[in-house]
Amino acid sequence: MPEGHTIHRLASAFEDGFLGARLALSSPQGRFAAGAARLTGQILVSAEAVGKHLFLGFAPEERALDDGTAESYVHVHLGLYGSWTFAGDQEFSRVHAIGAPRRRLGEQESTPGTGAGPAGEHSWRHLAPGENVRLRVVGPHGLADLTGPTACAVLEPAERQAIIDRLGPDPLRADADPRVFVERVRRSRTAIGTQLMNQAVVAGIGNIYRAELLFRARLDPFVPGTELTAGIVRGLWDDLVPLIGYGARTGRIVTTEPEHRDIHPIIRERSRGTRQNGDDDPDVVPREKSFYVYHRQGLPCRLCDTPVRDATVSGRAVYWCPRCQTARKRRASWDRGTCLD
Ligand SMILES: [Zn+2]
Repeated sequence: MPEGHTIHRLASAFEDGFLGARLALSSPQGRFAAGAARLTGQILVSAEAVGKHLFLGFAPEERALDDGTAESYVHVHLGLYGSWTFAGDQEFSRVHAIGAPRRRLGEQESTPGTGAGPAGEHSWRHLAPGENVRLRVVGPHGLADLTGPTACAVLEPAERQAIIDRLGPDPLRADADPRVFVERVRRSRTAIGTQLMNQAVVAGIGNIYRAELLFRARLDPFVPGTELTAGIVRGLWDDLVPLIGYGARTGRIVTTEPEHRDIHPIIRERSRGTRQNGDDDPDVVPREKSFYVYHRQGLPCRLCDTPVRDATVSGRAVYWCPRCQTARKRRASWDRGTCLD
């Protein structure tokens, strides 16, 4: 599942590529046909990420120029299988230098279905959408295709606000209040490893940041929140902000310190979700050196050689080093396998 930094990158991509433009919306698959018909022809006035939620704000052209207030939103949650694919001309690709998780450029594509499509920068206009495209957004310089989302719906402003109100602070947002995170963690007896995945406690963290953050803090994933000091919990937040900020800038999650990257540089290849943007780029930290414990179950800990352990909690695997992660150690066996609260 994409973690929050990916959604922030998507919001930036929409801002750079479509903000202020009159957009054509369609649903080649049909499941978002009514929503697309309602908003097509309107102006994109905002693109915003909150945790793993993307909100694209729209207003009719005659009112969009007034104060830029969105009257409706397209709300997208990618879930486990959703993704956006972008295509566009040279101008579009330049503004996407920081890019989205997946990108294809019109000039590199042939026209599906017709063989030799028109060459040049307008060829993106002739890309036929796949039949599984829930939403296609077309602007003056490019398009974006959404496939496989968990949620894609038109929301009124109050409905958007209701979603945001249910979320914990998002470490990538300037308006995030870390005190809310500290309070929510400490008032619950739920294990810290479970709480970090609860979007009402902190918005945007997924399985990788969860495992890595706990290792970096040397914290046992099964310690109840009530047993953690405010300083320890605040320390998690303060470590997370630059880590996830790096992810938002680069599209990659790297949590290892440079001096630890060449120690046991291997991870288990169990999931396609382990792949990262830029894996083929020799100038980036390869993913097998990027993590301390994530997908390293059974392999020696980079710091102490103890085999990394894994367990399934709330349906998701948690990874930890039983020797290093002993701060506030207390095995709360009753907490294993409990559901997200
Ligand atoms: Zn260790």
